[in-house]
Amino acid sequence: MTADTVASAVEGLRRVVPPERVALDPDVLRGLSHDEAEWAPVGAAIAAVRVRTEAEVAALVRVCAELRVPIVARGAGTGLSGGANAVDGGIVLDLSQMREILEIDTENLLCVVQPGVVNNDLKAAVAEHGLWYPPDPASAPWATLGGNVATNAGGLCCLKYGVTRDYVLGLRAVVGGPAGYGSAVALGRRTSKGVAGYDLTGLMVGSEGTLGIVTEITLRLRPAPVGHPRTVVGAFSSLVDAGRAVAGVTRRGLTPAALELLDRVCLEAVEEWKQLGVDPTTAALLLARVDSPGTAGAEEATAIVTEFTDAGAIWATESTDDVEAEALFEARRLAYPALERLGPVLTEDVCVPRSKVPAMFAQIEAIASRHDVRIATVAHAGDGNLHPLLLTPPGDDDARHRAMLAFEELLDAAIALGGTVTGEHGVGLLKRGGMLRELDAGNIALQRGVKDAFDPLGIFNPGKVL
Ligand SMILES: Cc1cc2nc3c(=O)[nH]c(=O)nc-3n(C[C@H](O)[C@H](O)[C@H](O)COP(=O)(O)OP(=O)(O)OC[C@H]3O[C@@H](n4cnc5c(N)ncnc54)[C@H](O)[C@@H]3O)c2cc1C
Repeated sequence: MTADTVASAVEGLRRVVPPERVALDPDVLRGLSHDEAEWAPVGAAIAAVRVRTEAEVAALVRVCAELRVPIVARGAGTGLSGGANAVDGGIVLDLSQMREILEIDTENLLCVVQPGVVNNDLKAAVAEHGLWYPPDPASAPWATLGGNVATNAGGLCCLKYGVTRDYVLGLRAVVGGPAGYGSAVALGRRTSKGVAGYDLTGLMVGSEGTLGIVTEITLRLRPAPVGHPRTVVGAFSSLVDAGRAVAGVTRRGLTPAALELLDRVCLEAVEEWKQLGVDPTTAALLLARVDSPGTAGAEEATAIVTEFTDAGAIWATESTDDVEAEALFEARRLAYPALERLGPVLTEDVCVPRSKVPAMFAQIEAIASRHDVRIATVAHAGDGNLHPLLLTPPGDDDARHRAMLAFEELLDAAIALGGTVTGEHGVGLLKRGGMLRELDAGNIALQRGVKDAFDPLGIFNPGKVL
């Protein structure tokens, strides 16, 4: 991109958004140019623009289309695949200031929000009306709903309540393609059913900013859960035993609201950082949360204890101490930032059929040992969605190289077990190679066709996903 083009682009941006919201300062730009995927490459953006309205987004997309300037949408930048990383010569479109909850419809159990609303803020707002927005990525205190939609975020309670996609009824988005760059379109519906036309809302969910910019979201809500949840804890002397317990819970048809795993490295890292009083002496801990009310809940909790025990747990019990149970789930939520303190973390997000969880855990251990890489594992185990986190000492290039090899082998192991390279974090930059190995050629050709139809100029988050 020539200096003249950069100058015209900046002038164009300042025509449609007040200049104080067009950041050019290198320090500010650096801060807004990457997500939490420390290993993904970061390009050099020419500007970061903080938008407040859909009309501003539309005007910016028109300017960028005219000058062929790439646009990288950004929510809170908590992504773990490099999806929000800046690209050379592009702009970062920061949507975090579009944070109004526009409507909470208690009669129809839905809400309408701007994309910059933080997940936990929506949860708190709807709770005041006795309602619940279930999707709960561990990043819920920071991540935006726009980012959640663009990555189809999962979380702890997907096992029973589903992922972001299951709650998105409709969207407004600024798109390009046949609609014309800078057009604001309404996709989806407010009704509980609806099949008018192709499911373009579904295409936008999980599209990681490559098909357009989400400017408004209509989300389904549920009534707030009643009753007191039960927590079952099981300690295991190996990851594979814990995996067998997960497979056993599935086989028996039990559906806890959450079934999470932390290995010893994670427990130690959290305990060293936050001193929650968690005992980090076992190889793996499984945490199940059961929210069915009354005797059904009690029976489910007992059945889970039995499955844990049958799979070889050192001990398994229903926790009677709420403070301890909450500390264990808090440890789960804090695992990632606690490990980040130890050095650069390369995050996997593989997902395998639940019956294959023990086999995947065995692969993780074998690959760690083959490449001499330290791997900590945290998992939405009940979904088969595992996050082996590859840890390398800061500045150790050899360890980094070995970790990259192990990363790709883990992706291949998941594919070989009938799984996928990414369960919830998205492809971004880190899993493009793995995705091409996972999907067949016809599927990739259709995906490229969709991208070309939505974005023939290739300006929406180029180089990501495909
Ligand atoms: C500690 C920690 C725990 C996490 N736990 C989980 C978890 O349990 N489950 C899970 O799924 N993820 C988890 N994540 C990953 C991350 O939080 C999610 O991917 C989240 O959805 C990203 O939201 P964000 O607002 O930070 O988006 P960003 O990181 O800013 O962006 C993510 C992607 O969405 C695109 N995008 C953002 N906003 C828009 C928009 N308005 N229109 C179009 N595209 C847009 C970006 O271009 C990018 O491709 C975790 C991350 C951390 C750091």
